[in-house]
Amino acid sequence: MSQGLVFNETLYPGVEVKYECDNILFQDRSEHQDLVLFTNPVFGKVLMLDGVTQVTTGDEFIYHEMMSHVPILAHGDAREVLIIGGGDCGMAEEALKHASIERLTQVEIDDAVVSFSKEHFGDFNAAVFEDDRFDLVIDDGARFVAETDRRFDVVMVDSTDPMGPGAVLFTEEFYRAVHRCLKPGGVLVTQNGVPFLQRDELLDSIRRFSAIYADASAYVAAIPTYFGGHMALGWATDNAELRKVSLETLEQRFEAAGLDTRYYTPEVHRAAFALPRFIRDIVEEGRKA
Ligand code: SAM
Repeated sequence: MSQGLVFNETLYPGVEVKYECDNILFQDRSEHQDLVLFTNPVFGKVLMLDGVTQVTTGDEFIYHEMMSHVPILAHGDAREVLIIGGGDCGMAEEALKHASIERLTQVEIDDAVVSFSKEHFGDFNAAVFEDDRFDLVIDDGARFVAETDRRFDVVMVDSTDPMGPGAVLFTEEFYRAVHRCLKPGGVLVTQNGVPFLQRDELLDSIRRFSAIYADASAYVAAIPTYFGGHMALGWATDNAELRKVSLETLEQRFEAAGLDTRYYTPEVHRAAFALPRFIRDIVEEGRKA
């Protein structure tokens, strides 16, 4: 590590992750959070909110492809999609690759994240701002789902961790409000942290999903930025069949969608639901509670 400027990831007690910083591109305190964007020799551009890494240009494709294509292709006929959070707009970019989506609503609390991401993350989000199907709402996602009359096929919660403005997006009340907004057979996916380091985050979400949804589960992806092994992506739906869509069907849907991906494949989709034992144990404990 050079002795130059570094940014510390502050999320994990007992572990220190330092990012070497070549250049600070933007730094500000918005109404909601501290925001810094800098460049790192390995990850490219790195966005941190309140000292926690949110997205990097180097590995954003893994998280965004797995959070969007898995629920959309499992559903098979998603037309109305809702993203909560997702201020860097990488999730919207992946979701909008599906021509079948008629409207993509994104509810982000902090317009500062969207406006500076538009300026600095054009490498992956430029298409979003030219797409008529993109409907951006600046509001608290919890308030939006509690009040809206609209109904969605897929809801993706691309949130910060359960602290600050993101904490409300991990509550049972929020998951219940999302359930009310889902069309029959709809599915909710959530970012649920790295179970090796954030066991309780996954456990609590599975407990809360189980009180509301017929099928509460998780799938995994390995994302270098989210240090500590697999990241868990929460999965909640009343349609248990969505988790069991065959490889053949996924291949047909993937081909029909004409997607060009770098991490997602139908095989990876199926395999992502095969949970390593210690993660499966957390999911099973959450379901029993
Ligand atoms: N991929 C990231 C991760 O795994 O940590 C998440 C990235 S994304 C930039 C998270 C977004 O959630 C931020 O832009 C933040 O402003 C937004 N956010 C936090 N709390 C929110 C809330 N209550 N309603 C809507 N958006 C929220």
